[in-house]
Amino acid sequence: MNGFLRTVREEKTPAGSAAVWWLGQMGLMIRLGEMVLCVDYYASGSPDRRFLPPVPVDEVTDVDVFLGTHDHLDHMDHAAWRVWAKKCPNAFFVFPRAHLASVLRDGVRKEKCLCMDDGETVKIGNVTVRAVAAAHEFLRRDPASGAYPCLQYVIEGNGVRLYHAGDTLRYEGMLPKLKALGPIDFALLPINGRDGERYRRDCIGNMTFQEAADLAGELRPGLTVPGHWDMFANNSADPEAFADYLDAKYGGEVPCLIPKAASLIRVSASGRAG
Ligand SMILES: [Zn+2]
Ligand SMILES: [Zn+2]
Repeated sequence: MNGFLRTVREEKTPAGSAAVWWLGQMGLMIRLGEMVLCVDYYASGSPDRRFLPPVPVDEVTDVDVFLGTHDHLDHMDHAAWRVWAKKCPNAFFVFPRAHLASVLRDGVRKEKCLCMDDGETVKIGNVTVRAVAAAHEFLRRDPASGAYPCLQYVIEGNGVRLYHAGDTLRYEGMLPKLKALGPIDFALLPINGRDGERYRRDCIGNMTFQEAADLAGELRPGLTVPGHWDMFANNSADPEAFADYLDAKYGGEVPCLIPKAASLIRVSASGRAG
C-alpha cells in the first residue's frame, strides 16, 4: 500500500475526533472511525498544476467513499474516478445527481452511486453525508435533471461534523441551512474569489477571501481551513490574507490553519464553538 495511505489507515481516531489531510485545492482525505473518505481529490497530472498530487492516481486504494462536489476537473476528476472505480470496487461514490451519466461512464457501478441534491442525506456505515446546494457562481439547477449541479457537503461520523464547501459563493439562505445541521468542528472553504478576467475564460468563481472569512466568522467552526488557493497560478488567493482578515475581524476567536499538503490535521469535537 502507498505509504501515505498506510498512515491514513493506521491513524487512530477515538470517538469525538477525526483525522484530516488536505490534498491541495479542495481535496481532503478523512479518517472517521473505521472509514476513509476522499473528497474532491484532483489527482490527475496537468501541466498547469503547481505541484504533483500527493498520492498518485493508481496508488489510491482502501478508500471507502469518494465524494465529488461538482463536475470540474479539480473536484470530480473523471480520469481518476475511472481508475478508482476499478481499484476500489467496493467504494461508494457520492456526487450531485445531475452528473450520474458521466459517473456511470467512468465505470462506477450503479449500486455504488449515491446521487445527491440539496437537502438530501445519505448514510454509509456510521457516516452521514448531507448535501447543501452551492452557488458556483450562480445558484442554478441543471435543466435536464432539475437538480443542483454543484453541492457542498456536511459529513458527520465518529462524533464530529466536517463541512466541505465545494466551490460556492454565499447566497441568501445558505447560512441558516448550514446552521440547522448543527455545530461544525472543521470547515474547508474556497477563498480564490472571482473577477472578470477569470470569468471571460470560463473560470467561474468562489467566495473572496473576505467573504469566506465572514462565513467562518458567523458559522464558528472549531477549525477553519482555507482551500482553492494553491493549485493554479492564474486562479489563486493569499491564504495569509484570509487568516489575517479572519483574525483581525473576529478577534482571534475563529481558529484557522493554513494547511500543508498531505500533513495531518487533527479535528476534535471539543473545539466546538457551540
Ligand atoms: Zn469549480
Ligand atoms: Zn474549483
